[in-house]
Amino acid sequence: MTTHYIVRADNPYAHLISIEMQVSVTDQSVLSLWQPVWIPGSYLVRDFNKNIIGLSAIDEQGNSLAIDQSRKNQWQVNCSTAKKVVVSYQIYAWDLSIRSAHFDQFHCFFNGTSAFMAVAGREAEPVTVELAKPNHACADHWEVATTMPRNGANKWGFGQYRADNFDALIDYPVEYATFSKSSFTVHGIEHDIVVSGIHDCDMERLAKDLAPICQLQIDTFGDAPFDQYLFMTQATDNQYGGLEHRDSTALICPREELPSAGEKDISDNYLNYLTLCSHEYFHSWNVKRIKPASFHPYDLDQESYTRQLWWFEGITSYYELLFVSRAGLIDQQQALDYLAKKLTRVTRMPGRHQQTVEESSFNAWTKFYQQDENAPNAIISYYTKGYFIAFALDAAIRQRTNHKQSLDHLLVALWENYGKPHIGVPEGAIELLAKQVIDCDLTDIFEQGLRQTDDLPLAPLLAGIGAKLSQRPATSFTDWGGKGDEQPKRWLGANIASDPLGAKLTHVLTNSPAMQAGLSTGDVIVAADGLKVNNTTLIKRLQRHEAPVHVIAFRRDVLIEADVPFALAPIDTCLLSADDSDLVKTWLGV
Ligand code: ZN
Repeated sequence: MTTHYIVRADNPYAHLISIEMQVSVTDQSVLSLWQPVWIPGSYLVRDFNKNIIGLSAIDEQGNSLAIDQSRKNQWQVNCSTAKKVVVSYQIYAWDLSIRSAHFDQFHCFFNGTSAFMAVAGREAEPVTVELAKPNHACADHWEVATTMPRNGANKWGFGQYRADNFDALIDYPVEYATFSKSSFTVHGIEHDIVVSGIHDCDMERLAKDLAPICQLQIDTFGDAPFDQYLFMTQATDNQYGGLEHRDSTALICPREELPSAGEKDISDNYLNYLTLCSHEYFHSWNVKRIKPASFHPYDLDQESYTRQLWWFEGITSYYELLFVSRAGLIDQQQALDYLAKKLTRVTRMPGRHQQTVEESSFNAWTKFYQQDENAPNAIISYYTKGYFIAFALDAAIRQRTNHKQSLDHLLVALWENYGKPHIGVPEGAIELLAKQVIDCDLTDIFEQGLRQTDDLPLAPLLAGIGAKLSQRPATSFTDWGGKGDEQPKRWLGANIASDPLGAKLTHVLTNSPAMQAGLSTGDVIVAADGLKVNNTTLIKRLQRHEAPVHVIAFRRDVLIEADVPFALAPIDTCLLSADDSDLVKTWLGV
């Protein structure tokens, strides 16, 4: 008898989702249950059990059964003579992200890692799920978006679903809402798109733009590892993110990033969203199937360590744009500007000299996912540095094999050797495979890129593929690279935000003028050169002359005075241009 779950979302105002779990027991006196503490794809122990309320259990007669708790996420139900155990609990769903659960009168979104407990020892068994129609009036017109296999339910309908095992069950995010929908078919596979929340997205345009991106990704790998795919997007004011799943992705984005009716070009905002879709879709191969050996299977009870996230996130971050440009959706310079801005995200981080990308990956759980105000000085992102390495590898392979091979070859070899046969990628295996399938030596790039903290020599590598990398000082606080023709500005070396009193420092970079003046994160600058300032006027005051600027600030309630020395913005902002446009076209597709 399979375990059966019933999900009831009847209490939107309290943000409570009720779960009933029906488990058959035979000759056991104790039923052990556990819940994941993290969700695959997001490397932080989130302790989903903290949101469980009112756990109880009864037998088939309705008699209460005692429950012992042995760990934060493990419970034992004393079932002695029971033949069937019904476990009930509620989850508090008030995390508006794609990693947990969120439920109100506008929608209900949940991941299985937040909602479901597993029966210990029976994780491999199939399970059935009833997604009960909510009895609250707000849900009258709601539909269901999920790729969980239907077991009698209609498409988009409430009712009966199933999953092959617990691992599958927690890999089908579910959303109930009133959706905007569109769809397209590539390689005979139906792809659905749903958007919830207030938005004015041109859904047909979205389908038209996503189709060639998906088509090209399947073409590159040779086959699709799913027989359906669902893009789920929550349109919000300013949240941003995506999480990959086996045949769907859960996305959240600012509503301005979705294309409006009549919009013709691909704005930078829309490009952000398209590359997010491209990124998560690419993960269907790279991390969902080609995955670190330590994720085979996932240990959802504790942290799972790997030094390879630079590959799984960095390479994915690199290809997210490549498939948009290869699809012909943007022009060559727009693609180069996007790539240049990503490079700046590495060259502007002093922390890249403190931590290798392998260390960044290994410590994702405590450092990358738990960044504090000193993070830019202390760590490097395995996304951005991994992206930098992908860029260097692709350029080197193209240059050194006289354009006969590219990073695509290594990617496809990983798919054939590890992804398709479901073999985890051991530490070091990517470099070994590169030695076998790539007809040039890449030792220098792997060694320097993965295990050292100085910058890879990207400019000469890019010259070999027709692109020119140059750097210039930032021209404003929001200048992340690409085209920029304003004069360089005086540098403060701190990020600032508005504050009721003035300008609040949110990060202070190592060796910056702000640090040299003794200013720290959290300080609020209230006056500069004797004049009251806020976060906008402080920048203007700094640009008035090249002498030190006298500032008055508060650190908590202590008044401090400091002289900020003059320094020009460092040359850390990247530009890419095409020296040989035809050669760049063989790389970017445009
Ligand atoms: Zn990713």
